[in-house]
Amino acid sequence: MALGQRSVAHYLYGVPMHWMRDWSTPSPLFVAHAVGASLTCADGHVHADFCLADTAAMFGHSPPALAQAIAAQAQRGLGAMLPGEDAPVVGELLSRCFGLPLWQLALSASDANRFCLRWARAVTGRSRVLVFDGCYHGTVDETFVDLVPGDAGAMQAQTRASLLGQSGDLAASTRVVEFNDLPAVEAALADRSVACVLAEPVMTNVGMVLPQSGFLEGLRALCTATGTLLLIDETHTLSSGYGGYARGHGIAADFLVVGKAIAGGVPCAVYGFTAELGERMRTAKEAANAGHSGIGTTLSGNLLGIAALRATLEQLAVPQAYEHMLTLSARLDAGLQGLIAAHRLPWSVSRVGARSELQFCAQPPRNGREARAAMDAELESRIHLFLLNRGVLATPFHNMLLCSPSTREADVELLLGVLDQCLEQLVG
Ligand code: PMP
Repeated sequence: MALGQRSVAHYLYGVPMHWMRDWSTPSPLFVAHAVGASLTCADGHVHADFCLADTAAMFGHSPPALAQAIAAQAQRGLGAMLPGEDAPVVGELLSRCFGLPLWQLALSASDANRFCLRWARAVTGRSRVLVFDGCYHGTVDETFVDLVPGDAGAMQAQTRASLLGQSGDLAASTRVVEFNDLPAVEAALADRSVACVLAEPVMTNVGMVLPQSGFLEGLRALCTATGTLLLIDETHTLSSGYGGYARGHGIAADFLVVGKAIAGGVPCAVYGFTAELGERMRTAKEAANAGHSGIGTTLSGNLLGIAALRATLEQLAVPQAYEHMLTLSARLDAGLQGLIAAHRLPWSVSRVGARSELQFCAQPPRNGREARAAMDAELESRIHLFLLNRGVLATPFHNMLLCSPSTREADVELLLGVLDQCLEQLVG
C-alpha cells in the first residue's frame, strides 16, 4: 500500500504501465523478487506463480542459465546496431527449433507481427489482413477488429470499441471471421485482396479455443490456393512443446512469430519465414525507394537480446524442460476437471501443453463468440483475489494457468486445494 501511494504522484494510475492496475487487488502488488515459479511480494508473501508474466517467464523467472548469460553480456556491450558473434548461432538454433530457414528480430511480439504484416503487404501487393474474432496479437492496429451484430442481424467487422486514440476505420483493411469456420475463411480470401492471415494455432487470448480437426490444415490449403500468406503467432502456443504447435501438428507457416518466452522474458521477439518468402522480401526491398522501410527499431536485434535468445534456445526451451511442464500441466488439468465435477459446475478446461484455461462454459468454446460469452469478469476477479490471498497467482484478464520447469507438484496441489476452498464458498 505504501509503495502504491508513493507511486501515485508520478505514474498514471500509480503504475508504470496502466494495465498493472487491472489485477484483482485493490492496490497493486509490488514484486520484491521472482525466481523460478515463485514470486515474493514486497510484504514478503511467497506466491506460486501460474501467470508467469503471462508467458514471458514460461521457462521460469530468472533461470540461472539466462541470468548468467545476461550478466556476461552486460560486461561486453548491450547493443551496437551490429550483430555479435552469437547471431549466427541463434539463427541456427531458431531454424532447428522451428524448421524455418530465415529469421529477423524485433523487441516484442507486437512489433514482430507488425513487421510481418508490412512485409506481407510489400510482397503480395495486397492491402488486407484476415484475423479471427476474439484474437489478440499485441498492439497491432490491424488486429483490433471484432465481429459484432450489424443492422440486419448479420455479423460485421467493427473497430474494437475499447481502443483509445484510434483514427480511421480498421475494419476497412481488416477482415474478421470466426475461428474454426472454414467456409467463412474461404469467402474472405476469395477475392485475393488479403495479403496475410494472422492466426494463433490455438486462440489463447479470449479464454482458449482449440482448433477443430482439419481446421488448420484447411486454413493452410485456402491460403496456398489464394496466394495468401499464413502468419502463425506462436507467442503463447510455444507452451505446446519444443518447436511450437504448428510444427508439432505439421502445419507449415509462411511467417512464424514468437515473442515473450523466446528470450526468457528479455524484451526480444523473432519472426521466421520460408526461403521463397525471403527471396520475395529481398526483391520488394530492392525495388523500394531508398530510405526507411518502416520495419525494425534501433534496439531490434540488440546484443543483450541475442545473448538471452541463445541461452533460452540452448538451455531452457529444450525438450527435457517440456517433459516436466507437460506432465505437471496434465496433472493440473485432471485436478481442475475433478474440481469441476465435484462441485457440479458447468465449466470446462482447455489445454495446450503447459497452458491450461479454466472456462465458465460446460463445453469448450469453438470460436471467439462462444469464448467471450463464457467470460465473467467479476467472477474471475473474485476467484483470482481468493487465490492470491492464499499464495497463488493466476493470469489476470482470463483464467490461464501455466506450468514452468520450476513449478513443483506442491504448487499444483496448493492451487487445487485453494481453488477447492474457493469453489466450496462460491457454490456451497
Ligand atoms: N501475440 C500473442 C499471441 C499474444 O498473446 C501477445 C500478448 N499477449 C502478443 C502477440 C504481443 O506480445 P507483446 O505484448 O509482448 O508485444
